[in-house]
Amino acid sequence: MNSKKVKILSISVFVVLIIITGYSAVYGRLLPYSPVIVGFEQKIYKKATVYYHKGYSLPTLGEIDELIDKNEEIHRLKYKRRVDIILCESDQEKKRITGSLTRAQSFPFFGRIVFSRKVQDEAIANEKPFRVYLQHELSHSLTQQNLSLFGTFTFPAWLNEGIAVYSADQFGKAGYFTQREVAEHLSQDVFFHPYWWSQPLQQAPIESKEFKLKNKYYFIYSEFGCIVDDLINTYGRDRFIVYYHQLLEDKDSEEVFLSVFGVSFVDYLNEFKARMVSKLS
Ligand SMILES: [Zn+2]
Repeated sequence: MNSKKVKILSISVFVVLIIITGYSAVYGRLLPYSPVIVGFEQKIYKKATVYYHKGYSLPTLGEIDELIDKNEEIHRLKYKRRVDIILCESDQEKKRITGSLTRAQSFPFFGRIVFSRKVQDEAIANEKPFRVYLQHELSHSLTQQNLSLFGTFTFPAWLNEGIAVYSADQFGKAGYFTQREVAEHLSQDVFFHPYWWSQPLQQAPIESKEFKLKNKYYFIYSEFGCIVDDLINTYGRDRFIVYYHQLLEDKDSEEVFLSVFGVSFVDYLNEFKARMVSKLS
């Protein structure tokens, strides 16, 4: 191939890559990370921007600034930027943007949140409380806005879910287990080890061969929420916040756990199970 042909081929490949990247940033998988969001209407709140499609009936979002303040208080941490919330008009659009049909997801770096159509329809039909999902995702968004690139791959995914469930007080709501129901399962040796949960944070959960249960995801999330609640009740909120904040600084999770709580994570989990089960009697 002569040098002219090589040049033309290189330019063609470059142009195709630019087109693919541009398309993904506007319509596809890069949208959660794109500096600009096009093709949506915008509703501006004090601390958040909601992106939606014209003619679309929005779920109740009036309290979003209040929920953001509440999350900052619970996590003792500030959002680094406004929270972008994208409301998909169809589940297909959610799948196109995020690659997943889950009800809601938040993404690293900008902490952008994407909601499926399903969760909005369920809210309008009063089947599932949108506020709970919103507050849950706002917790992820806050954590993700405060993580480094390295941290998005190393921050414990169980803790990310646990603190979101805890801060949204999801126990017994929208299909999630009450703390008592979690304890009843633990008493029958139904336990999902936190390390079975997938990394990195933005990945959809994996199916664990070790764990079979109907409504398993509801149980797993509820169990992780119970662990956070138990850490706060047993060791105090201050120590829990030190643990959470140190992990945001990319420190080794097991070393931090031992130094903050004075017990290894594995030993703690046995104590957690015993404490939960003892509450049943
Ligand atoms: Zn979550």
